[in-house]
Amino acid sequence: MRKFTDFYREHRGELDALIFDVDGTLTSGGRLISEAAVFIELLRRDKFPFFLLTNDSCNSCERKAELICKTGISITPQQIISAGNSLEMYIQSHGLAGHKFYQCGSLGEPGYAEKAGMIVTHDPHDTDDCEGVVMGEGIYDWRRELEGMFNFLLKHPDAPVLVANPDSYWPHPHGMGVGAGGMCRFICGLVQEAGFTVTPTYLGKPYQPIYDLVMKRMPEMIPECKNPVPERIAMIGDSLASDIQGANGAGMLSCLVLTGITSRVLAESAPLHRKPAEIFDSL
Ligand SMILES: [Mg+2]
Repeated sequence: MRKFTDFYREHRGELDALIFDVDGTLTSGGRLISEAAVFIELLRRDKFPFFLLTNDSCNSCERKAELICKTGISITPQQIISAGNSLEMYIQSHGLAGHKFYQCGSLGEPGYAEKAGMIVTHDPHDTDDCEGVVMGEGIYDWRRELEGMFNFLLKHPDAPVLVANPDSYWPHPHGMGVGAGGMCRFICGLVQEAGFTVTPTYLGKPYQPIYDLVMKRMPEMIPECKNPVPERIAMIGDSLASDIQGANGAGMLSCLVLTGITSRVLAESAPLHRKPAEIFDSL
C-alpha cells in the first residue's frame, strides 16, 4: 500500500502547497475516505498550506464546506475553490452580467451564474431572448431541461454554452453519477447528428480558467505563496481526465489516488497528458 501521507513526509521540503480534489479523494458519496481526516489534521499541525479544488458546481463553497465538515474533516469555505467560482469569474470577465441564459440543472442556491449577475431561466418556453446556455448539475428534471437545451441549440448552434463542471461521471454511494460535462457532450452529440457543431466552453478542471483563478487567488489564500511556482505545488485527485490532466497542463506535480473513479490499470495505460507523476493507493 503506497500512501500519499508517506510521500508528503519525505518530500514536503520540495513543496509549497497541496491542492486536493474532494469527491473520490477526501470523501466518496458523502462519506469520509478513512485516511483523509487524519491527514488533513497532520497538515494543520504542520501548518502546511493546502486548499481544495472541486468541479462541484451545484453547491456553494459554504454548502460544500458544510457537507465536508459533516464527514469529519474540518474545512472552511475560504479553503475551497470550485468550478462554480470559475464560472463566476468567466461571466464577470466576459461582460455577461445582465445577459439572459437558459440554465439546465442547479448551480447552487443561490446559483453561481446569478451571483455573478447573469439572468437565468429554466423554462424551455422562455428562451426567445436567451443568448446562450449555462449548464448546471444536481437533481433536476433531466428530460424537460435537456430537451429544452437541445431545442435551443438546434435554433442557435453558435450560441455560447458554458459548462462549469466538465466531468463525465463521479462516484456516489451506489456507483457512478453522470456529470454535467457528460450531459453536455450527449446533447452536443445530438446537435451534431442534426448537422450543427456546438463548441462548449468548459471552466472547471482540467481547463485553463480554473487554474487562472487558482493562481490569482492563491496569494490571498496562502500568504506564503505570494508568487506561486506550479512545480512546487502537488495536486492530489482521483480523476485522470480532470485532476491529473489539469495538474499536468498547469505544470503541477500530479498525484493520483486510487480511492475514486480510476483503477490502477487505467492509470498505468493513460496517455501522456493524463499520466500521473505519482500513483497512491490512498491518502
Ligand atoms: Mg474527484
